[in-house]
Amino acid sequence: MKHAKAARELADRYLVSKPHRFRLKDVDPADTWKFKSDEDAKELLAEGVKQLSDLQKKLYAQDKWAVLLIFQAMDAAGKDGTIDHVMSGINPQGCQVCSFKAPTSTELDHDYLWRTTCALPERGRIGIFNRSYYEETLVVRVHSEYLHAAKIPPKLITKHIWKERYEDINALERYLSRNGVLIRKFFLHVSKEEQKRRFLSRLEEPDKNWKFSLADVKEREHWDEYQDAYEKTIRHTSTKHAPWFVIPADNKWFTRLAVAAAIHDGMRSLGLAYPKVDAAKKSDLAAARATLLKQKD
Ligand code: ATP
Ligand code: MG
Repeated sequence: MKHAKAARELADRYLVSKPHRFRLKDVDPADTWKFKSDEDAKELLAEGVKQLSDLQKKLYAQDKWAVLLIFQAMDAAGKDGTIDHVMSGINPQGCQVCSFKAPTSTELDHDYLWRTTCALPERGRIGIFNRSYYEETLVVRVHSEYLHAAKIPPKLITKHIWKERYEDINALERYLSRNGVLIRKFFLHVSKEEQKRRFLSRLEEPDKNWKFSLADVKEREHWDEYQDAYEKTIRHTSTKHAPWFVIPADNKWFTRLAVAAAIHDGMRSLGLAYPKVDAAKKSDLAAARATLLKQKD
C-alpha cells in the first residue's frame, strides 16, 4: 500500500494533466522528487518491479485489456535502460518491444500509422514502442525534407499538416482506448548538458564506444527545434485516455522509478484480477481430477 501511494504521487507529479498550459521548461530534468540518491529509493525501485510483475500476470490471465507504453526521447536519454528495467520482472511471453527507426520503402508505401498499427499488443499483453508514430510530429517536423521524401500526395501537404496529424493520432488513441488498450506515453526529458556528458562517456569508455553515433552529435545541433516539436506534440496529444508523462531523465535511477510508478498506477486503475472459476468450471475441474486419479500411471 505504501508503494501504491508513492506510485500515485510520482505519476501525478509528471502527468501532463493541463496540456494547453504545458511548458517543457517547467519540468527540471534533474528533479528527483524527495529522493537524494538511488540508495534512498532502492526499496521502492525493487517494489516497483515486483508490483509490475504481479499486475502483468493478472493482465495475461484476464486476457481482456492490452497495455501500450510509448517511449520518446532525445538520444542518450535512457530509453533502452528504462525499458530493460521496466521489463526486468516481467514474463517475456507477456510483453513485446518494438523499435521504430527511419521508415523502410515498404513502410513508406503505407500511411504513417500503418507500421505501428501492425505492431500493437494483443489483449493480455504489454506492448512497448521504442519510438513510435510520434516521430512523425518530431523528427519529420524538424527535418521537413522527410515529409517530402514520403509518398504522400504533395497537395495534401499544407500548413495544416501538423494539426491534422495531432487530430489523427488523438483519434487513433481514443479508438484504441475504447477497445481496451491502456495507453501511457513517456517523454524522457534529459538536459542538453547531461546529453553531452553521456556522449562523451560513450567516446571515452571502450565498453560504450559501440553506442556512439556521429549522427547523434549532428542531430544535437537541432536541439531547440526538437524541444519545440516535443512541447507542441505533448500540448496537443496529452489526453485523459492517452496521457503523456514528462519524466526527468538526468538521473537514470529516478527515470526508472518514475516510469515504473506511472505504469503501475495506470494498470492498477484497470482493476485487474485473476478470472473467477464458476460453479460449472469447478465441477469440470473435479471431474478431471477424478478421471486423472483413476488412470493408470
Ligand atoms: P539507440 O540510439 O539508443 O540505439 P535509437 O532509437 O536512437 O536508439 P537509432 O537507430 O539510433 O535508434 O535511431 C533511429 C532513428 O530513426 C532516430 O534518429 C529517429 O528519429 C529515426 N526515425 C524514426 N522514425 C522516423 C520517421 N518516421 N522518419 C524519419 N526518421 C525516423
Ligand atoms: Mg540513436
